[in-house]
Amino acid sequence: MLQAGLQTALRMIYPPQCLACGGLVDQEHGLCAACFAETPFVTGLVCDLCGVPLPGVSEDRVQCDDCMAIGRPWIWGRAPLRYDGVARKLVLALKHGDRHDIVDTAADWMVGSVPQPLASDTVVVPVPLHLTRLLKRRYNQSALLAQALARKLDLQFCPDALRRHRRTASLDGKSRAARFAEVADAITHTPRGAQHLKNRPVLLIDDVMTSGATLAACALACHTAQSREICVMVLARVAKAA
Ligand SMILES: [Zn+2]
Ligand SMILES: [Zn+2]
Repeated sequence: MLQAGLQTALRMIYPPQCLACGGLVDQEHGLCAACFAETPFVTGLVCDLCGVPLPGVSEDRVQCDDCMAIGRPWIWGRAPLRYDGVARKLVLALKHGDRHDIVDTAADWMVGSVPQPLASDTVVVPVPLHLTRLLKRRYNQSALLAQALARKLDLQFCPDALRRHRRTASLDGKSRAARFAEVADAITHTPRGAQHLKNRPVLLIDDVMTSGATLAACALACHTAQSREICVMVLARVAKAA
């Protein structure tokens, strides 16, 4: 009762705002109608491994040409958003703008994109940042997402299972082969990872998937720690509209 009163009072002082444009909205943690309409949610047929939207319909799980050519060291991958428009704006605000208020809604969208039930012993692991980048940004946006996701799915969260021991150059603008080569041996499991990953399924979390090179390096590090099957969930997938 007291809490409800406090919430009402807080709403009067801080009315709920749209996560993307700051305009007033009815509910906490929401988007206004205009931003919602401009947000590229992934719907319909997607690649089972990387979540990229695909044309057509199918009853079966399908893979895109890229995933068939590259092969992915995980069993499924999904993203609730295509990295474009409002989705791109939200990801950048979360990554560089200290906008931690986006995390809870983003994690809800990610939970909604999980294609099949996860085993209860699954451990949720974020893609690690290199220490110097973490100190500069002060937080790892992927760890914030992973923590929220683990809480919502009632799974164990292990923020320090993996480590980026070599600082990698920005992958922006690099070819796919160069991206895979750049991060291939930059990520390893930690002693805590060795303890928590062994014989456990893993849900790997990142904010964005572009080539999938970083996630592949993380998945290989989990396999080195003798994890079981790995699944991948990102907030936004870089892809052309289907
Ligand atoms: Zn808005
Ligand atoms: Zn794919």
